[in-house]
Order: sequence, then structure tokens, then C-alpha cells
Amino acid sequence: MKLLVTAGPTREHLDPVRFLSNRSTGKMGFAVAQAAAERGHAVTLVAGPVSLPTPAGVARIDVVSALDMLAAVEECLPGHDALVMSAAVADWRPKRASATKLKKSGMHPVLELEPNPDILQTLLPIKGQRLFVGFAAETGVPLAEARRKLEAKGLDLIVANDVTLPDAGFAVDTNRVTLVSASGTPEALPLMSKLAAGREIVRWLERHACP
Ligand code: C5P
Repeated sequence: MKLLVTAGPTREHLDPVRFLSNRSTGKMGFAVAQAAAERGHAVTLVAGPVSLPTPAGVARIDVVSALDMLAAVEECLPGHDALVMSAAVADWRPKRASATKLKKSGMHPVLELEPNPDILQTLLPIKGQRLFVGFAAETGVPLAEARRKLEAKGLDLIVANDVTLPDAGFAVDTNRVTLVSASGTPEALPLMSKLAAGREIVRWLERHACP
């Protein structure tokens, strides 16, 4: 299989030194990329700003903003059989970004934002036979919201996790995920390393990929 994986946060700059972002560290996406490469799949990893080494055998493309990530994923998608969107894409970006550092005295206390495009939904029309996997990081019991996103984004699989648990979600090396597919019953996996969770996701893709 040829796998396209996204990871990490995006940064939405106001000026060269200030940005909006989130707590994603990229660990889950890098784990999926590593797990897939270990199984002999060709992997392209589109990474937001993170400080993680590139897993062996993985081709990495670094991006900054959601718009950069969309452009990279859109360009790469035709050569791939599956897209795994583990990136925590920023929902909003500042309406105006300055090429030079803004002066405190010249800044407005209210920030005007505009929505970023949803990468999965934007690419849905050219999905074809490819498998699309999304992540749903929720606070609280995530299943109902995960199902809503699965349908809204036309996904084959959504990986749901509760980011408020101390051993799951952002920055830690473990995760407690539930695989929710369009067809089957939800599969709640026990606490495991992100690499082990990545291997489960890759196994799911191997089972469901077109021959
Ligand atoms: O942010 P949200 O919970 O809707 O994210 C669910 C899925 O959608 C994730 O897989 C995420 O990578 C993807 N997403 C996207 N484009 C966005 C926001 C989220 O593809 N602008």
C-alpha cells in the first residue's frame, strides 16, 4: 500500500513571530507512519511543526499552516491508496497576517478569524477507491461525536479518543482508542503505546484495502 499520513498541529501565523496553534505533538501520526513503514508500505508523512525524528524509510514533507497542509495532501493524494489524517488542523486562521512583526501598540485587542478548509471534506470528491481515516479527539465519551464526523467527512474509519484521560491524547506515548468504521461495530482497544495503536490502524487498513 502507499500511505499518506498527516501529523502534528498547524500554525496559523499573525506575523512572523506570533501564531495560533494547539497542543498536538505529532506522536500519533508519526507512530502510524512508523508502523506502516515497518510493514513494508510506502509512506509519505506530511508534518506540521513538530520536534520528532522522521521514522526510517518514511518520506517527509514539512508544512506550517492548514492551507499549506491542504496543498501538500492534495498534491500527494493521487499517488496513494489511503489517507490517514492524524494532524490536528487548526480550525481558524487570522483574517490578516502581517509579513513584519506587529507592534504591540498597533495591535487590535480583538482578533478577526476566518475558517480553514476541512482537508478531508475538500478531498472527498477525489477520494475514489482510497481509504480515508480520520481522528476524533474529544473531551468526554467520544463515540457519538466520532460517528457524526465519520458520516460528515465520508470516512471509512475514525479513530476516537478521549483527550482528557491522563494516559491518552496529547504529548503522551500511550493512547486508548476506539476504531469506529462505517460498516462494523466499534472496536475499543485497551491502553497501549501509540506505536501499538498505529500498528492496529495499519492492520485495519491492510484488511480493508482494495486488492
Ligand atoms: O477537528 P476535527 O475533530 O473535526 O477533526 C476530525 C478529523 O478531521 C481529523 O482526522 C482531522 O485531521 C481532520 N480535519 C481536516 N481538516 C480540518 C480539520 C480537521 O481534515 N480543517
